[in-house]
Amino acid sequence: MKQDPAFLRAGAVLTVDLDAIAANWRYLRDLGRQGGRRCDCAAVVKADAYGTGAATVGGRLAAEGCRHFFVAHIDEGIALRQALPQATIVVLNGIVPGSEDEIAAHGLVPALNDLGQISSWRACSQRLNRALDAVLHHDTGMNRLGLSASETEMLANDRGRLRGLRLALLMSHLVASEEPDKPINPSQLARFQAFVERMPGAPASFANSSGIFLGADYHFDLLRPGAALYGINPLPERSNPMQPVVGLWGKILQSHRVDALETVGYGQNWRAARPSRIATVAVGYADGYLRSLSNRGLGYIEGYRVPIVGRVSMDLITIDVTDLPEAMTPPGTAVELIGPHNSADQLAEQARTNGYEILTSLGSRYHRIYLTASAAA
Ligand SMILES: *Cc1c(COP(=O)(O)O)cnc(C)c1O
Repeated sequence: MKQDPAFLRAGAVLTVDLDAIAANWRYLRDLGRQGGRRCDCAAVVKADAYGTGAATVGGRLAAEGCRHFFVAHIDEGIALRQALPQATIVVLNGIVPGSEDEIAAHGLVPALNDLGQISSWRACSQRLNRALDAVLHHDTGMNRLGLSASETEMLANDRGRLRGLRLALLMSHLVASEEPDKPINPSQLARFQAFVERMPGAPASFANSSGIFLGADYHFDLLRPGAALYGINPLPERSNPMQPVVGLWGKILQSHRVDALETVGYGQNWRAARPSRIATVAVGYADGYLRSLSNRGLGYIEGYRVPIVGRVSMDLITIDVTDLPEAMTPPGTAVELIGPHNSADQLAEQARTNGYEILTSLGSRYHRIYLTASAAA
């Protein structure tokens, strides 16, 4: 791998551990099967599988037995269809006006979020003269996407409004599942249970990553994890049960000495308190290394902590390597930015955001390596 010229010339390398994603998926799937229940596990692969590569990740999870995939945009579904000819691919954002025929042509299943979308999907089914699969999304408290309580009530009282459609799934989405003590969790659950009871015969899906850990009552027929598959901790207050997936290593381009009181980078945002050695690394905010990591992010060289000093630039960051021997920091040295010493969640804390934003920001200039023990990648 290290002989690969693309690896050699890369300024930074992103690794995605496909075996870890597969292990995380099996772990969550098995939580749904506890007590002999027959709950299935989907994979949310929107935003390019949280920055890890939807086609590759989707292919691997399909090989593990995953049959349901969720994307946000229709275009994401169309792209994923190429990699996954057989899978059920649900488009969470639903029908954009005028897109019905394309959704149908690619065999995608829209999450229908209001009565207008239901009638336009029905009209499409009549035009094509065949039944179409549909997901009904009931908004139980997010106030973002989905059918309101009065709309679901209207549907339950008049199932004719769904004629021509096959209900593939009933779904809703939790507002605060990573905060298990919040009363919104059981209240959303009660609303969703009532909806499911009013629409008998269709499978149901409620729990995202953190929701899975709220208990079996939240599981229904299909789990819908995203973040946890990619190693983000679904239990912010407890130790992470998921395996880490993403690694990010930036290479040192150059090191130089600065005197005490000299500044480093744009805006003179960091001033050396002592004679220092500063290494410049080929990662910047254009790569999704967030600007809020200026003077806050941590890197590691062979396990030794090297703080980011000064502002994050578009293509570069600067790190303080004063405490390391020069022999440890020649050009080409790999600086761990996400990895065993600094998880995506930890980097997120340094950036004052969450792991979701760190992963979905991962840039397109990184040299990407998919790790797997099997030959499947
Ligand atoms: C993003 C999303 C998920 C996955 O959420 P995670 O917290 O990443 O597990 C599930 N359902 C819906 C509707 C979503 O938008």
